[in-house]
Amino acid sequence: MRIDVLTLFPEMFDGVFGASILGKARDKGIVELNAVNFRDYANNKHNTVDDYPYGGGGGMVLKPEPLFAAVEDLVSRQHEEAAPRVVLMCPQGEPFTQRKAEQLAGEKHLIFVCGHYEGYDERIREHLVTDEISIGDYVLTGGELPAMVVIDSVARLLPGVLGNETSAVTDSFSTGLIEHPHYTRPAVFRGWEVPDVLLSGHHAKVEQWRREQSLLRTLKRRPELLERADLTDKERIWLERQQTEK
Ligand code: SAM
Repeated sequence: MRIDVLTLFPEMFDGVFGASILGKARDKGIVELNAVNFRDYANNKHNTVDDYPYGGGGGMVLKPEPLFAAVEDLVSRQHEEAAPRVVLMCPQGEPFTQRKAEQLAGEKHLIFVCGHYEGYDERIREHLVTDEISIGDYVLTGGELPAMVVIDSVARLLPGVLGNETSAVTDSFSTGLIEHPHYTRPAVFRGWEVPDVLLSGHHAKVEQWRREQSLLRTLKRRPELLERADLTDKERIWLERQQTEK
């Protein structure tokens, strides 16, 4: 997969793209990561990328020309059959979810657009981007941190990126539920014991305990997820009983 990020602060990506799992994925050639300064595409004397809003008011607005030119240049250099997804980072966008990460992980080329200042010229939204993503109902100063969040969650889903291939499959939200609790050695720490079933060596019982814990944890912390989760009738009845007993 190739990921390009259009930003006014490409240096912010140096650490994130070079370290930990993303850095390894890049070294292995699984993902190509590039931060591109879209100021380089400004076609005016002072390399201006923003301007005052028509109609007045505070804050600056990102101009359309540099971003259109940058995306068109990146696309022309790739000679791809399919057009890339162009993702605008934006607090007004679709709330980011694991499902969206899974969808984006199926693409060959992603281009992220990081905003700054008050906003974007609306024509960028209407005619350049394919997706608008928000990482939550709060406002940050720029789209760089949100783009890093999305890129990290997408890249870790690519085959070969995580050491243990199954770990992304059982993650919270991938199953539609919150993940079960984990324990490691020692079996007793300060008098707190690991549940017996995990020490039993009985694989089927361990799996059943994990599923039940996952259901209970979701019921307690994020009950709204259960409405869309893929549960058997037996599990729904079991959950209702847990709720009544509670
Ligand atoms: N005036 C804009 C509004 O009300 O929607 C907010 C602009 S914000 C100060 C500047 C940039 O930060 C945005 O264009 C976007 O790229 C990024 N940003 C801020 N919060 C974000 C969020 N929750 N999710 C994604 N991007 C965000």
